[in-house]
Amino acid sequence: MSRFFSDKYSTLEAYTPGEQPKDMRYIKLNTNESPFPPSPSVIRAVEVEAGRLQLYSDPECTPLVEASAKLFHVKKEQIIMTNGSDEVLNFAFMAFSDASHPIVFPDITYGFYSVFAELNGIPYEQIPLKDDLTISVDDYVGIGKNIVIANPNAPTGIPLSVSDIERIVASNPDNVVIIDEAYVDFGAESAIPLINRYDNLLVTGTFSKSRSLAGARLGFGIASAELISDLNTIKYSTNPYNVNRMTMVAGLNAVLDNDYYMENCRIVAENREWASRRLAELGFQLTPSLANFIFARSDRIGGEQLYLALKERGILIRHFSKPRIKDYNRITVGTRDDMETLVKEIENILKEIGK
Ligand SMILES: *Cc1c(COP(=O)(O)O)cnc(C)c1O
Repeated sequence: MSRFFSDKYSTLEAYTPGEQPKDMRYIKLNTNESPFPPSPSVIRAVEVEAGRLQLYSDPECTPLVEASAKLFHVKKEQIIMTNGSDEVLNFAFMAFSDASHPIVFPDITYGFYSVFAELNGIPYEQIPLKDDLTISVDDYVGIGKNIVIANPNAPTGIPLSVSDIERIVASNPDNVVIIDEAYVDFGAESAIPLINRYDNLLVTGTFSKSRSLAGARLGFGIASAELISDLNTIKYSTNPYNVNRMTMVAGLNAVLDNDYYMENCRIVAENREWASRRLAELGFQLTPSLANFIFARSDRIGGEQLYLALKERGILIRHFSKPRIKDYNRITVGTRDDMETLVKEIENILKEIGK
């Protein structure tokens, strides 16, 4: 830290992204990317757009917003496009929470929520998941604070029903409820249809997981026109050109090619179920994930031990050292080949340690 760093950030613990090592070629099952490349029209559109990079991008993201509004059955005033969904989440923390408007979220969830709260000086409370790692919905009903919940939750993959979400949203009419749907396309149900009935609901989404654009950085928020307008005030006060030209056309073509991406999500869900069955046969306990990852623990091998042994064999998975989940690993669902290699290597490791 330099001697110039502001006191208000000096204790900030930044988010730790999943590792991206360059020492060898790994099967990457650690950051929940799609195993499938973008569709051909996305790649072509990006190539063409590269020739126009001397010009600023459209701050309103007009064609992308129009196509997305159609896809999600909302009005274009009800959408904001951002540089990854991390950006819309940060905008929402900035816009709706402050010292006198705290925010709550589960103790086990996406690591960025506490970082955004700290960054923006927002008091926050972490509500423990139940012993089975599900969210206790009643803890949020009528709590009278802003709320952010990932649905399905990360890194458990466990979804809430839209009726449970509605109970939370309806019982906190004077607080903003953010539902982070980064993983919704792999089998859970979206809360987007609720936005016309509740002006306090913000649903966020990303093109990183189900639409093969993690490296392009594209996310969005969907809510009442009033909430979106507030988020735009933050956006235009920080970086109006937050979505670059190539990402914008990539996103537009990804929306137009929706069927390709939804078919990929179906395959990922199928591979998730296949790998889950195989791991259960090897004695693993798994949460009922509806995301593009598996969350698993075993009495035969510790979480960190399995993570390190797989890394040695060229497979990266994600281990978290938080005490409540340190026995678990989060394994991104890749292609069927990836999953077969994973299962085979886990079998080898268990054999080798004599279990
Ligand atoms: C990956 C992820 C995001 C953010 O993804 P972006 O790449 O910034 O769009 C947001 N929330 C959760 C729960 C995630 O797992």
